[in-house]
Order: sequence, then C-alpha cells, then structure tokens
Amino acid sequence: MKIAVYPGSFDPVTNGHLNIIERAARLFDEVIVCVMVNSEKRPMFSLEERKRFLTRVTAHLPNVKVDAHAGLLAEYAQQHHCCTIIKGLRAGSDFEKEFQMAMINRNLNPNLESLFLTAEHQYMYLSSSAVKELGGYGADVSEFLPPEIVADFQERTRNIRNHKEALP
Ligand code: ADP
Repeated sequence: MKIAVYPGSFDPVTNGHLNIIERAARLFDEVIVCVMVNSEKRPMFSLEERKRFLTRVTAHLPNVKVDAHAGLLAEYAQQHHCCTIIKGLRAGSDFEKEFQMAMINRNLNPNLESLFLTAEHQYMYLSSSAVKELGGYGADVSEFLPPEIVADFQERTRNIRNHKEALP
C-alpha cells in the first residue's frame, strides 16, 4: 500500500491545495493531508478549524485522511509508513525553499521521496496569505476557496475587521 503525506499550513485550504490533493489521491492508495504546527506563524484559523475545513472539502475523496503534527515531517512519515512527501510547486517562489527541504528530509530518512506536482495555471499565484490579505479588505475571495468553507472564511474576516474598527 503506497501512502503519501501532503504537509502544509492550510490556513485556510484553497482551491490550489485541493487541486493538489485530488491529483495526489489518484496517484496513491492513501493520502494523508497533514497540518503542520508552526509556532512561528500566527494562523488565522486554529489547528482544529483548519483540520475541520480540510475534512469537509475532501469528503468526496475516500482515500484522503486529515491529520496534524507538531514535530518533524520525516519523523511523521516514518511513523505513518508514508513513502512519499507531496508538495505543490507554484511559479518561481516555491522552488529554492522546497529543494532545500527535500534534501533535508531525504537526509533524515533516505527512503522518503519528495514528489512535486506543478500548480495548475489558474492557481499558480494563489496562496493562503494572498486570500487572507484580500479577505481582510472585504474583497470577494469565493473563486479561490472551496465553496464549503467560503461562509466561515467571510465570517472570520468580517469579525477581524469589526474588531479592528472598534479599537481606539
Ligand atoms: P501557503 O500558505 O503558501 O498557501 P501552505 O504552507 O499551506 O501554503 O502549502 C502547503 C503546500 O501546498 C506547499 O507544498 C505549497 O507549495 C502548496 N501550495 C500552496 N498553494 C498552492 C497552489 N495554489 N497550487 C499548488 N500548490 C500549492
């Protein structure tokens, strides 16, 4: 059984992420989407919320599981019998960082392969941070997010805006 792990922050999951998940699910027997806990980032959505969103938007994919991990990815992959790390590669920006990460992970676990799936052209420049920035100004981001999470996203950005306006 070939199991792959797809790690990320998913704050929140976008159509770009979902496209990678759907394509990976066709290549492997099982795909674990793993929300990585990064104490340096201040996420908009809690770990539980991000997991809940991912579970909701992948409900149509029976071989996709959602999990979270606070330690090393290579360690997680070994514990869960994953042979491959899936990464999405967007235009330009991701390459250097991902190349370095792939080398580090391979060093930590030589049996672990990193597989890069290139972003679909319409998602090439899409990132969670861009969606959050746009949402912060009240822009319509529904074309970038899976429909199942749009309302929750809009509610959160509305609350943040109201909170900021209420500040002295
Ligand atoms: P970000 O916060 O930059 O959107 P994440 O840390 O959640 O990204 O990303 C997890 C993984 O998904 C990474 O491998 C990243 O390169 C990939 N990814 C993110 N957005 C896209 C996209 N629009 N198309 C393809 N892959 C993507």
